[in-house]
Order: sequence, then structure tokens, then C-alpha cells
Amino acid sequence: MLSTLDRVIEKIEKARIAYDRHQIVKIVAVSKYTGSDSVKELYSQGQRAFGENQVQSLESKMNDLEEYPLEWHFIGNLQKNKINKLIDLNPFMVQSISSLELAQEIDKRLEVKGKKFRGLLQINAAAEDTKSGVEPECAKDIFEEIRESCKNIDLQGVMTIGAHTDEEKDIVKSFETTKKIYDSLKDVSICSMGMSSDYELAVKCGSNMLRLGSVLFK
Ligand SMILES: *Cc1c(COP(=O)(O)O)cnc(C)c1O
Repeated sequence: MLSTLDRVIEKIEKARIAYDRHQIVKIVAVSKYTGSDSVKELYSQGQRAFGENQVQSLESKMNDLEEYPLEWHFIGNLQKNKINKLIDLNPFMVQSISSLELAQEIDKRLEVKGKKFRGLLQINAAAEDTKSGVEPECAKDIFEEIRESCKNIDLQGVMTIGAHTDEEKDIVKSFETTKKIYDSLKDVSICSMGMSSDYELAVKCGSNMLRLGSVLFK
């Protein structure tokens, strides 16, 4: 019998092959709605990368699952007073670097602690008031500025949340906007876009990292 993960992978495969059979698409399983036991279950099926959107819950899952060789991604809004805590947790990657100011603040604290981060620049691709991230028009400049001025952040690409709408063409537009920015950047390897409701669209637009929560943990 196919597991939920298998069924999702089948759908991703169809979209991936339609886009480019050489494309490699990575899944980050977003465990924020669920407990450590569900993470273990998915681990037993081969999943290794997991994401959390709160520093607190990242900490408790990382503690619970210390013995497992997991790769943890932080994907949520980062408040300034949580930066030190996040750095101490030493996650694999922080996908939600949403402004130059935040990047510089993180960089300062990393410098003090003698640590480094892998990071992605979050883009507010549909310019929605409710979302964090840099405006598409300034994304390239800000990306380059962070690279230049934040030596403790290893910026590897971009992240976006698809437009919040039922209109497929507007969701696609937000992904295309992000992909275009990604393609304009030098030395990047990660274009993180696509969630439970829009991951096939995202893959068809060239995403190579999906952040999947509800569709995996039901
Ligand atoms: C919760 C969350 C996800 C996963 O959401 P689902 O719709 O459940 O797949 C992905 N990215 C971010 C930034 C999130 O906060």
C-alpha cells in the first residue's frame, strides 16, 4: 500500500518530469502541526529534512529527536528577541530571512557567537500586506547586499509563499516572479516554493524545494 508520502512523491514526479527530468526537487516536511512521533514515522519512510516555524517548537522537536540524523529548517517569522536562541539551536538552514535589517541583526549575533548560518532570502512575491519578505523589485539588490555585508550568512537562494488566492494564474505569477529573481542571482542553488495546496504548480514553475505540512501529516 502506498503511504501518504509515496502518493505526494508520485504527484511531484509528474510535475517534475513535465518541467525538466533533470530537476531535483527536495521535500522539507513541515512538522509544525504535529508531534515528534509523526516525525519519527516519516523518518522511518526515508524523510530527513523537517521544518518548523517557531523557535520554541523547533527547540522542543530538536530535543526530542536528538538521536535522529535530521536536517532542521527554520521557516517562520523571526522575532529579534529569538535570534540568539535560534543560533544556539544550530539549525541546518534558515529560510525566512525577510529583510536586510533582519539579516544584519542575525549576522551581528552570529559574529559574536562565532557561528554561521545557511540562509534563504524570503520574497513577498505577490506583495501581500499580510506576508513578510522583500518586495520583488528590490530582491536582487537586497540579496547582493546581504551577501556582501553579512559574511556569517551563507545565502543559498530564495524562498516564497505562493499568492494567497484560489486563482491559479495569480499563484503561478507569484512563483514565476520568484523563479525569475532566482535565475538572475549568481551562485544559488535553492528556490524554495510550494506548499500543500500549490506544490505541483510550484514544481512546474521550477521550484526545487517544497515545504509540505498538512498534506503529509494528516
Ligand atoms: C506552515 C508552513 C508551510 C507548510 O504549510 P502547508 O500548507 O501545511 O503545507 C510552508 N511554509 C511555511 C513558511 C509555513 O509557515
